[in-house]
Amino acid sequence: MPATPSDLARLDRDHHLHPFTDPKVLQEDAPIVMAGGKDSTLWDEDGKLYLDALAGLWCVNVGYGRTELAEVAAAQMERLAYYNTFFKTTTAPTAALAAKLAELMPDGLDHVVFANSGSEALDTIVRFCRLFWELKGQPDKKVMIGREEGYHGSTLATISLGGTLAMQAQGGLPLAGFAHVDTAYQFRHGAPGESAEAFAERAAGWIEEKILELGADTVAGVVVEPVQGAGGVIIPPPGYLARVQEICRRHDVLFALDEVVSAFGRLGAWSAAERFGLAPDFMALAKGLSSGYQPISAVMIGSRVAETLIEKSGGLAHGFTYAGHPVAAAVALANLQIIERENLIGRVRDDLSDHFAAALSRLADQPMVGEVRSLGLIGAVELVQQRDPKILYDPEGLVGAVVRDQMQSRGVIVRAVRDALVIAPPLVVTHREIDRIADTLRLVLDDILEQIGVVGDD
Ligand code: PMP
Repeated sequence: MPATPSDLARLDRDHHLHPFTDPKVLQEDAPIVMAGGKDSTLWDEDGKLYLDALAGLWCVNVGYGRTELAEVAAAQMERLAYYNTFFKTTTAPTAALAAKLAELMPDGLDHVVFANSGSEALDTIVRFCRLFWELKGQPDKKVMIGREEGYHGSTLATISLGGTLAMQAQGGLPLAGFAHVDTAYQFRHGAPGESAEAFAERAAGWIEEKILELGADTVAGVVVEPVQGAGGVIIPPPGYLARVQEICRRHDVLFALDEVVSAFGRLGAWSAAERFGLAPDFMALAKGLSSGYQPISAVMIGSRVAETLIEKSGGLAHGFTYAGHPVAAAVALANLQIIERENLIGRVRDDLSDHFAAALSRLADQPMVGEVRSLGLIGAVELVQQRDPKILYDPEGLVGAVVRDQMQSRGVIVRAVRDALVIAPPLVVTHREIDRIADTLRLVLDDILEQIGVVGDD
């Protein structure tokens, strides 16, 4: 291994193209070389400490530095480092994890297909929605409906399902067979004075309109993130998700939840389906499933679809070499045990969520802040050029990026989505750390405000 951080940065610059990064920028700016972590704290190769207010990429739910998970991985590697789950074989951790997920997730979601990433899980859902209707003798039901700003992954199908236009612009996407509707983003789409409940009804109606426009006999499924993460922590107004589920049922369209971010405690429940009392046909799980200690994902399949696949498929022509990988499954199981043993979900539900909401609310009077919102332990602070009437920054995203970078200089990692700062710390974060996130954001915003000023606000 090269010795110094600058050697590493040079090798990285010369040979590594990074995800969601302008390669040209990295020719000039050396990347931070992360070296280690404990709980919610990271340190880089130069020894600088960071409070990771994004839990990696919203995945390190149990926090960094869990020796126990390293030991489980090592023990499983010694016992059986790899075997596949094709052709009538399985491994002990894989079978145990499948059963555990069936136990933890809401009733009726009792079957699991494993994969290695969120993208693969969502890609599998797209394929199985279409397969389900083929097996039902309705092969014309093919179209998948996604939403504006939805993020479901980086494969061709998941970019097509998602609503990130910058992604679709690269590579000539979306593919055929995907349709999109506006999302339940009240900060942007709400009418003045409209109640959250009325907006929920109106936004769910966009999905019904799209189904009717396309013809329900051509629509296979609707996929939603319960809380849109990468899209900017867009939290659904009360009743929206239940209404979307009801619309799907009524039009005989499959209903899938992308719970890659929302499951495993982030919302103070094992899943958003549990929290909102939903019964989806599919649920995608990843990230918090192993807290990022191993790449692993899973698709939970509802009974109606599972029965059809079991009875009629004649064999699933589908599968990844590493699906249900024994080391990843063993680590995921141990991770779920930590979440249970340390009552991390109860901690988010009964303690952290209120403290987090209160800390973010203290920012609401800062003149650059147009809205703060949170649910469980995920939240966003929307920046605006002017609050009343609301004027967004133009061009979008510049101020958000400056704030993110200044937060990072002060040792707090958050992410900027357009001009929203999004925050989702590990579930082991302390009250003091939550306060530090909010206090640092306040300092940075006050500094910037002094430099750029704000239009027409007190
Ligand atoms: N769905 C959601 C909601 C996500 O946030 C992500 C990743 N950020 C994905 C799917 C894709 O997961 P992966 O990057 O593991 O492919």
